[in-house]
Amino acid sequence: MIALTHEGGSTLGGWRPVALPPAPPASSPAVRQVLQRNGRRDTAPELALRRELHALGMRFLVDASPAGTSKRRRSDVVVRGSRLAVLVHGCFWHRCPVHFHAPKANAEWWGLKFASITARDADTEQMLRAAGWLPVVVWEHEDMVTAARQILALHRERRSAGTEPREPPGELRAAGWLPARSPGAEGAG
Ligand SMILES: [Zn+2]
Repeated sequence: MIALTHEGGSTLGGWRPVALPPAPPASSPAVRQVLQRNGRRDTAPELALRRELHALGMRFLVDASPAGTSKRRRSDVVVRGSRLAVLVHGCFWHRCPVHFHAPKANAEWWGLKFASITARDADTEQMLRAAGWLPVVVWEHEDMVTAARQILALHRERRSAGTEPREPPGELRAAGWLPARSPGAEGAG
């Protein structure tokens, strides 16, 4: 698991989708399977991570846009109390350093595709940081029990450091429109 605490560049919001040529036909059954899984939520690693987080008593949003970021950039797990945005990255699409092998066929198209994904990831991470979220990347190959424990540790660390969710305006709460939030109402603590 990687908590992306480093500072990024200064191209926030500068990412634009790259116009790729149409995808070539899948060159092998393995590639076809990967293509079919792309973009789906509730993949096996996401489900495994969520199960482990639940087992640790954590509460979180699933497949949500963290407040202050683009509605089109969803994080797989969003822990509001500590402003953690967890991104479960597939080893193929995000080019995991352990397992990634570039497809041999249609190399040029894949090169563009991967560059586009990398640029988008960097932009998402910057957007999250700019809005006060900590982006956390979990690779699909990781042990999710360990990853969940690390996320819980980060959650506690940030909670005790005073990273609080943005409160609704005080006057609304005082007027009785919204319930007051009690500290520790969200997530394990
Ligand atoms: Zn991997």
